[in-house]
Amino acid sequence: MRSLTLIGWLTITFFSHSKKLFSQTPEFKVLAFYATTVEKDHVDFAGDALHFFAHLASKDRFTIDSTVEWDKLNEETLKNYQLVIWVNEFPHTEAQRRAFEHYMEHGGAWLGFHVAGYNDKDTNWPWLVDFLGGAVFYTNSWPPLAARLVVDDRNHPVTRRLPARFISPINEWYLWKPSPRLNKNVKVLVTLDSANYPLGKKDIIKNGDLPVVWTNTQFKMVYMNMGHGDQVLTDSFQNNMIEDAILWLGRKK
Ligand code: ZN
Repeated sequence: MRSLTLIGWLTITFFSHSKKLFSQTPEFKVLAFYATTVEKDHVDFAGDALHFFAHLASKDRFTIDSTVEWDKLNEETLKNYQLVIWVNEFPHTEAQRRAFEHYMEHGGAWLGFHVAGYNDKDTNWPWLVDFLGGAVFYTNSWPPLAARLVVDDRNHPVTRRLPARFISPINEWYLWKPSPRLNKNVKVLVTLDSANYPLGKKDIIKNGDLPVVWTNTQFKMVYMNMGHGDQVLTDSFQNNMIEDAILWLGRKK
């Protein structure tokens, strides 16, 4: 009886020790950039997202750091990370932008949410427009609403746990012109179902091809339109997609 107890104790000790060793060897490192001085609904999502990323990191063997200091978009810092996430903000200085371009052109990976992909005639960053597959912000729906989405390809690592269609929680939806689908290097993964039209009350999107998740296959990157308000992370399908995007990008060789 005593020896059995000893074996039991040794077994527990061994497994708890090996689990600790296991969790100490992350597969990849992620740096998430966000902002606290932007629209409140965008800050709310950033807070939720950082909690969610921390939860994923603890179970999926990666480490996550986060910062509001966009000057950390520099070569010295970025070389420590396999994946950079922009949560509802984008770089504004030339130095930050050049460092990010260099990072992405030398094997870095990026996941961008919502405003991360925003660009218009005043942003003056043609590289980002190319990076997004040519997508330029055209208009948005308002107020934020849930919407039915169609999954374009359920065999992709990012979308493999999604049903063919699902209701994405309350969000502000962006329409892009031109649509990134027109770019031969872009693979659209999820699209707004045209059955949602007219979408909005104050600002109404009446029609148009509206991709919401896509990748430019020339880079390790995924853009997601989601990111407005505190309801975005309430759908388990959509959360699976975010998790799978992080793992795909973080592990991608
Ligand atoms: Zn928004």
